[in-house]
Amino acid sequence: MSTGLFDGVVGQPLAVAILSSVLRKGVGHAYMFVGPRGVGKTEAALAFAAALLCPERGCGCCEACRRARAGVHPDLVTIVPDGNFIHIGAIREINVDAAKRPYQAAVRVYLILDADAMNAAAANAFLKTLEEPPGHVRFILVTNNPERLPQTIVSRCQRVPFSRIPVESLAAHLRDLFGLSEDDCRALARVSQGDLRYAREFVESKSMQDARVRVLSQACALPGADFARETAMVDEMMDVLEERQAQAVAVVEASRERELEWAGDARTRAWVEKTLNQRSKREKRAAMLAGVDEVIRGFAGWYRDLAVVAAGAEEVVHNVDYLDDLRLNAMPGLLNAYLAVVSVAERTRERFRYNVDARCALEDMVFSMKEALL
Ligand SMILES: [Zn+2]
Repeated sequence: MSTGLFDGVVGQPLAVAILSSVLRKGVGHAYMFVGPRGVGKTEAALAFAAALLCPERGCGCCEACRRARAGVHPDLVTIVPDGNFIHIGAIREINVDAAKRPYQAAVRVYLILDADAMNAAAANAFLKTLEEPPGHVRFILVTNNPERLPQTIVSRCQRVPFSRIPVESLAAHLRDLFGLSEDDCRALARVSQGDLRYAREFVESKSMQDARVRVLSQACALPGADFARETAMVDEMMDVLEERQAQAVAVVEASRERELEWAGDARTRAWVEKTLNQRSKREKRAAMLAGVDEVIRGFAGWYRDLAVVAAGAEEVVHNVDYLDDLRLNAMPGLLNAYLAVVSVAERTRERFRYNVDARCALEDMVFSMKEALL
């Protein structure tokens, strides 16, 4: 195994130690990557899949490694929620597929993202395969919410725990990666709250930086906004979400030709098409959720910081670059109202786990927050 395989996994020494040990000592058949979102679970899962599929057990540089890490190895099957759930149909497909021999590698790897989205029927069907898997099958389950999965599934997987990345490690990583100033790194590490994916994307994406400015100014304007302004805010949010979705789909489409060129026969072409269609769907939904997350993060962060300033604890403000505005706007008498707004944000985040209409949920959020501030 190459030592560089898990280099992209930052601030997760325990997870990397477990995976390295597993690769050295021989491999079980099911793993569960558990921890908060944005801390590198999927990236680590793809690196681990590469190690399982690579003839050199993860050299990090061969075609098998490259394809596995890009999620397009023919012996890597990725399962994601269709809408908000992983349905029994997807699990039945795995069960049929798992009986076949691998195409190229010695094993076939099933990567199940958001595994807790399995509904009860799907979980039951999955358990059957998990109990007696064919010898060439490996499962990697990734989840932020293992408690939502039946204990019978959890107990059959080797647990690989991921944790929030400490602000210090995250700041150091951002400094190494992007050469940002000490202040910028610390501010970003705090705002992202240990979410590496968010922090990285934020540095690289002008549109995310713009979105943050826009969302924070909306959050700041909310107390004085009338109904028309509130509705306009939601329109702006929806425009940004739709734009992000279109960008995400465009990225997948741009890779279609290249991937199809590589596919020789009709069967492989069909497989590539199917994989890309799934990915397109997945990326579209992920872009929507990421966009919603930005909005919620912005509003929750602003009112959390107002509460912090109102309570006289400026040193723990997240949006440190907005400290002057926060001082100007924070009113000690509104401390409870600020906290109520943060609760509305949390509730809205939770609602997005289920099949909610984005516009409805965001409208509801804005109106409820306004009510809390009156
Ligand atoms: Zn390799």
